[in-house]
This record gives sequence, C-alpha cells and structure tokens, in this order.
Amino acid sequence: MKIYKEPVYDLTELARYNLHVHTTFSSCAKPEMTVENIVRTAEEAGLEMIALTDHYNTFNWDETYLAQIAELKKQYAALDTKLKVLFSSELSCYGVDKFVEKEETAKALDYALVSCNHFHLDYWDKPEDTSPRGYAVFAMELVKSAMKSRRYDCIAHPLYGRFVKHLEDKGEMTRAMTDNELGEICELGKETETALEINVGAVLGDPDFFRRLWNLGREAGTTFIFGTDAHRLINIDTKTHLEQLQKILL
Ligand SMILES: [Zn+2]
Ligand SMILES: [Zn+2]
Repeated sequence: MKIYKEPVYDLTELARYNLHVHTTFSSCAKPEMTVENIVRTAEEAGLEMIALTDHYNTFNWDETYLAQIAELKKQYAALDTKLKVLFSSELSCYGVDKFVEKEETAKALDYALVSCNHFHLDYWDKPEDTSPRGYAVFAMELVKSAMKSRRYDCIAHPLYGRFVKHLEDKGEMTRAMTDNELGEICELGKETETALEINVGAVLGDPDFFRRLWNLGREAGTTFIFGTDAHRLINIDTKTHLEQLQKILL
C-alpha cells in the first residue's frame, strides 16, 4: 500500500505514523507487546496509524504466518479504537533476488516492510569480501534487488551497518558507500515506489549516514516512512527522539 501520494519531508508530519512495531509474535519483542497494549499506547501517544511488523525469518512458513496475521486482526477487531492499524510484516530479502516469503504473502499484506541487512542471521547471504567496502557493495546490491522486485513498500533500517558484527563501528560500512551510489539507490526507490525508513535506532546509531541518505533522498524525490522498530511499549511514541532526529537530519 502506498502510504503517501507525494513524498513528505517534514519529520513532525512523518511522525504521525509509526510503521514499524513488533508484537509478541516476534521472539525479540517483550511479552507486553500485545495488540491491545500496543493500540492503547499508540493512542496515548497521539499516533494516527501504526503498522504491526513481525519478523519473517522462517522458510516455508507462509501459512503459519498468515494465520498469525489473522489472529492479530481478530484481536484488533475486538477493540474499540479509531487508531488505524496496518497488518504488515518485516520480511526478508537475504540475498540478491532471494526472498524468504512467497510473493503472494508479501502481496497479501497492507504494507510490506523488508529488511535487507540482517547479516547477523545465519541464513543471510554474506559477501566474499568481508571488508567494509565489500559489505557496503553487497548491502547496496541487496537493497537494489528488493526494490527491483517491486514486492515491497519500504526498506527497513536501510543500509545500516549494525548487523555486521565483525566491523568496528556502526558507520564503517556506510562510510564506504559513495554519494553517487546512494543517489542511485534513492532514484531507484522513487522509480520502484519503494520508500526508505527513518528508523529511529538506526538514525541515532549512524547519524552521519542518515543525514546523507535523507538529503540525497530529498534531492531524488524518494519517499521516507517513520518507524521506531518498537519491541517495547516505551518505544512506540514517535515523539520521544523527534527533536534529536530533527537536529541530525538537517
Ligand atoms: Zn530489522
Ligand atoms: Zn524490526
């Protein structure tokens, strides 16, 4: 689902939606992340729309996965709320032209968020050249592949290097990407209608990189979408780090 008709470059406006929230169906999320608790917390924070984006990391899991979504929908339907909820997922593009979920599953979602850089997972493809530049080239290939597949609405924590455990700091991989290369990715995002996520943890973790990506994206006309990647209720409110983000993304 296309979230914005035209790209929005006002962070306060983007922060009206939090399109990256995990429920208890993600093993990394806290037990408090029930649909009811999430919805109430989002209402208190004044959010207008959220997306439930549980991980999709298991092969041949489509049936179970869709049953899981049906269960979330049932729990949401039982609530009296005006909050709009997108039944979504953090899908996995784990190699060039390699996707864990079936295409029909991605298409069945209200909003398809995809991760291309969960390099900490065993099954994720790794580059032969494991230097920062080697990883940079590979990570960019994966994002381009996800965009060209046209299965997805948004790239989660795009190109963020935190998941490459052996690299010294979080910016080592992203510093090895040139503005030209990033500009091309932003243009491809626009062309394929794939947004880039303003993922709060990623922006705080690698501010220099996300400032570059934000500015290159604005030049190219790329759509950005806000997500806190909440695994706990306290992380649902998009306003918590908004001022900090505004300073970073000049
Ligand atoms: Zn992720
Ligand atoms: Zn996530």
